[in-house]
Amino acid sequence: MINRNEQCKACEGVGMLADDEGWQYRCPICGGEGTLPDEGSTAKVMSVDENNRLLD
Ligand SMILES: [Zn+2]
Repeated sequence: MINRNEQCKACEGVGMLADDEGWQYRCPICGGEGTLPDEGSTAKVMSVDENNRLLD
């Protein structure tokens, strides 16, 4: 099965990056997770905000 979370493009899902000298460090884009956070939760909050505006 493929992970539904979007793979981090910076580290290609590894969670680690390496500089030219081979030093490895945690990927700052995904925080070492290797995947990008799901955007579904934030979209849900925005739809609630729209409903509140309609009621006003
Ligand atoms: Zn990453």
